[in-house]
Amino acid sequence: MDTKAFKRTLQHSENYNRKGFGHQAEVTTQLQSEYQSSLIQEIRDRNYILQRGDVTIRLAQAFGFCWGVERAVAMAYETRQHFPTEQIWITNEIIHNPSVNQRMQEMAVKFIPVETGKKDFTVVETNDVVILPAFGASIQEMQILHDKGCKIVDTTCPWVSKVWNTVEKHKKIDYTSIIHGKYKHEETVATSSFAGKYLIVLNLKEAQYVADYILNGGNREEFLQKFAKACSAGFDPDKDLERVGIANQTTMLKGETEQIGKLFERTMMQKYGTTELNEHFQSFNTICDATQERQDAMLELVQHDLDLMVVIGGFNSSNTTQLQQIAFEKGIPSYHIDSVDRIKSDNAIEHRQLNGELAIAQNWLPSGKIVVGVTSGASTPDKVVEDVIEKIFTLKA
Ligand code: SF4
Repeated sequence: MDTKAFKRTLQHSENYNRKGFGHQAEVTTQLQSEYQSSLIQEIRDRNYILQRGDVTIRLAQAFGFCWGVERAVAMAYETRQHFPTEQIWITNEIIHNPSVNQRMQEMAVKFIPVETGKKDFTVVETNDVVILPAFGASIQEMQILHDKGCKIVDTTCPWVSKVWNTVEKHKKIDYTSIIHGKYKHEETVATSSFAGKYLIVLNLKEAQYVADYILNGGNREEFLQKFAKACSAGFDPDKDLERVGIANQTTMLKGETEQIGKLFERTMMQKYGTTELNEHFQSFNTICDATQERQDAMLELVQHDLDLMVVIGGFNSSNTTQLQQIAFEKGIPSYHIDSVDRIKSDNAIEHRQLNGELAIAQNWLPSGKIVVGVTSGASTPDKVVEDVIEKIFTLKA
């Protein structure tokens, strides 16, 4: 499919909106009352530290709702106001936060049902309204909705669109996009739908495997099996790795994306020589500012003397998991939770481990004076962070 031509057609369609409906003022007030927190504002005003009794809370200097998420949620609220009686659907969670998604359901915004792993778009009628979430939707989904003639409200973050433009550029010059991301993540699914040839690498280890293959060749079958779910149809590692460009899921660890970019630059230089590098390697900066700021703030926070960390964000939120990983690598006891309900009244906490499994930690709050580091992912409202901090104060009171 000519994805660029389709996007142009879609953007000129009267059924397509990506700018909102002019109800910003009312919606801003509503969002402030539902998601903002006076306690968090107080901590910000006190230079990100608050002490009560034995507990000192140290907040990261950048955390919580990013610009792209705020914009997407505001557009969803505006959509409800603008279409008070229409059936509104959303192709996926608007953002990865249970409380915000719960609010969507209360506003009668329905998720497209998923049947045996596939979305069932037959439920959408011509005059329905369909919201595309902050991390976008695949080109195939957009086409189905466009063909149905329903109204599309596209809240895709411009940073994500920037990555789509990058992979389009790779496609135009016949380069393979190496995407640093999680092949199952909705954003990466969407990004890869705009790419021509692509290969998704999860981390530096996988990238190194690919780089070794480029330099030394290797076991083709093993390669294809390893990346079976993470490459374009008909991908041929012996032909399709001669010219590569780098792109990423916007919420991956920025340091790792940079390392992966440098690794492929070095690899292509080694294989083809410096003078030929531009014929074999392309790199554009597609790391989102908000991800970068939150990770930098976390790296700064873990330099302090902390007894433990609490990282708050949806369990399927990639950027929250990256924050948790930073604490883990620093050796700080750290608990990734998605809401205050994970903290049980008897000093037990249910938390998500880095391997994705839930575990319960007992006596996670040490006795005596403690310093607790707190941060939250880009899709977490301040109100959720406030609830957690208040709970810690209560448990330690
Ligand atoms: S994390 Fe970055 S890319 Fe994702 S919604 Fe926020 S600003 Fe956009």
